[in-house]
Amino acid sequence: MARKMLIDGELEKLGEDGKSFDFDLFVIGAGSGGVRAARFSASFGAKVGICELPYDPISSEKVGGVGGTCVIRGCVPKKILVYGASYGGDLEDARNFGWELSEKIDFNWKKLLQKKTDEINRLNGIYKRLLSNAGVKLFEGEGKVVGPNEVEVTQLDGTKLSYSAKHILIATGSRAQRLNIPGQELAITSDEALSLEELPKHAVVVGGGYIAVEFASIWRGMGSTVDLVFRKELPLRGFDDEMRAMVARNLEGRGINLHPRTNLTQLTRTEHGIKAVTDHGEELMADVVLFATGRAPNSKRLNLEAVGVELDKTGAVKVDEYSRTNIPSIWAVGDVTNRMNLTPVALMEGTCFANTVFKGQPSKPDYSHVPCAVFSIPPLSVVGLSEEQAVEEANGDILVFTSTFNPMKNTISGRQEKTVMKLVVDAETDKVLGASMVGPDAPEIMQGIAVALKCGATKAQFDSTVGLHPSSAEEFVTMRSLTRRVAGARKPKTNL
Ligand code: NDP
Repeated sequence: MARKMLIDGELEKLGEDGKSFDFDLFVIGAGSGGVRAARFSASFGAKVGICELPYDPISSEKVGGVGGTCVIRGCVPKKILVYGASYGGDLEDARNFGWELSEKIDFNWKKLLQKKTDEINRLNGIYKRLLSNAGVKLFEGEGKVVGPNEVEVTQLDGTKLSYSAKHILIATGSRAQRLNIPGQELAITSDEALSLEELPKHAVVVGGGYIAVEFASIWRGMGSTVDLVFRKELPLRGFDDEMRAMVARNLEGRGINLHPRTNLTQLTRTEHGIKAVTDHGEELMADVVLFATGRAPNSKRLNLEAVGVELDKTGAVKVDEYSRTNIPSIWAVGDVTNRMNLTPVALMEGTCFANTVFKGQPSKPDYSHVPCAVFSIPPLSVVGLSEEQAVEEANGDILVFTSTFNPMKNTISGRQEKTVMKLVVDAETDKVLGASMVGPDAPEIMQGIAVALKCGATKAQFDSTVGLHPSSAEEFVTMRSLTRRVAGARKPKTNL
């Protein structure tokens, strides 16, 4: 196989040790983390190559695409569908605000799907331009590592290209996991759910995490019958229990059938659709069954073990605080490392990598005070510690302030849906350790609260901030009465 020694007629670069390389950096995977690392490294003077499978706009399932999961088959198309689905409830609410709407309101799924696909195509083009404007050379093909400083890219026509690079960055993300039950091939994952030809009439969603709750909200908002099957008492394990309970109540209030403490045991195709059997013996009929049961790092086809890169038992690439693997020339960022699997975190890791390796400014990603949101309808958003985490980690007492109220809009619309907010405070230092909210605009509000927490804001500083009236957000600065005081789990026990 001929090794391409010269790229676009440019001369090879020499490494510090005198070895020559085709690239200073070769990135495998052009998602959020990979594109960020590539662009920033190039801006610091590095010669950068990146590879990614081409995006097929006709069938956007299970193929690559510059932009990665977030842009092509994750956050962005999901949010477009959430916007679309939210109109269902908003139109109902509008009636009490004086809007005369005809009895039957039609929803055209195919129209929204086309708009979504057009937007994804546009963003895919923008991401490609971002790379070329930064001087990053894009190779459309599947990459793998063949040595500590060698990568191979297999193009769609089967041609293999081989390049050397002083540094290699693995940024290949993650992929949806399927449940191992009989008939599992009848189910889809979020990849296909974003491009279904028809809106499901009856969907069974399996899982209680982000994706399950978001798709249940999307399809219900568009008028589908939805059964949400999850194995815990409440969805969204890891979030504040009070928030989880409110999300569950709201999902039910919006008409989603919840099946807590339930597992699916089998799927079979019948003439009436897919029959999903639960471990309680219940039979749910559906035209779509969605597995939203977690994602696994995309590390399998990269040949990493052959070159000695260590993986953990989930297949995640093991890295140090600077995102470096045990092989000094190979680095990894984003979901493939399974640290905190969120797009903005992959961006932070990509930025820190570029600063460390090409700007001469060693930088560790800071995982504290990372806000996140579940785009259920209405959404949940949090930053910092949940009440349970705060209690678990605290030596002293924790002060909990909560506010549960009927948002002003609902007083007119008549919607029976409460908003809940919580602040968790260290009793000794008065520092706000965590904030959470379930209710309209929670993610928009939480980004600002995250800045306050990052700055170490105290409850007294929240209280002395003037509210923005009338808004739901102002509740965060008017929670004056203590809801409860809880002893931290690590508080030394006395014999009194
Ligand atoms: P999550 O890890 O959030 O949730 C997985 C769900 O599947 C959990 O409820 C889990 O249950 C359940 N589950 C796992 N295995 C089984 C099993 N064998 N049988 C039954 N249930 C099972 O994964 P998602 O797929 O929802 O999302 C993947 C990741 O993508 C998220 O963790 C997040 O990092 C990211 N993401 C972020 C979004 C955002 O920021 N808004 C949106 C979508 C995804 P249990 O809790 O009992 O383990």
